Amino acid sequence: MTELVIGTKNKSKLREIKEIYADLPVNCLDLSSFPNHSEVLEDGSSFLENAEKKASGYALQVGKWVLAEDSGLVVPVLKGEPGIHSARYAGEHGGDSANNTKLLEALKLFPPEKRDAYYICVACLANSEGKIMARAEGRCHGRIIKDYMGQGGFGYDPLFLILEYHQTFGELTARVKHSISHRSKALAQLRPSIWQLLNNS
Ligand code: IMP
Repeated sequence: MTELVIGTKNKSKLREIKEIYADLPVNCLDLSSFPNHSEVLEDGSSFLENAEKKASGYALQVGKWVLAEDSGLVVPVLKGEPGIHSARYAGEHGGDSANNTKLLEALKLFPPEKRDAYYICVACLANSEGKIMARAEGRCHGRIIKDYMGQGGFGYDPLFLILEYHQTFGELTARVKHSISHRSKALAQLRPSIWQLLNNS
């Protein structure tokens, strides 16, 4: 079966990408299959730059096709923060819980209607020589609530309310999340390129 390496260290993202592509006849490997790889630095100034760096950087190291994405939460009233800093919003070793605490603190004076936010995911596919073969972007709109709701998902999900469902991504099932998420929208756009890879290998 054709192999596709998922270029991420984030176990939750990896799980979601595998779930979203579960129907594709590809063998999704992750970076743990390549113990000698070194981490690609995410020091770009945009989601696209970081996604390209990861896809291309890991493809060059492992010599296989790589799918990588850069994603985050954008809060317009916070001038776009956490944005590309979403994973490390509360510092290098902060983690999801510290990030959520910092977000709630930053928004504490804002009423519900000012707390609109969106997730963005920019995904790239690189060939085994590190050349970017496809790029895609997906967004998902919601609102940051004041208290945690639900245990599902990861990252900012327990605070991210989907207005149409009256539930957060922490409460909604993975199946529902994948039907509307930024990640599934971006990955859907890459499907034709993945089929092309399958047909040519
Ligand atoms: P990256 O690994 O640099 O792309 O950072 C991704 C970060 O964005 C995660 O660590 C989360 O903080 C946030 N994020 C991205 N997608 C999601 C999601 O689907 N749910 C919750 N948080 C997300």
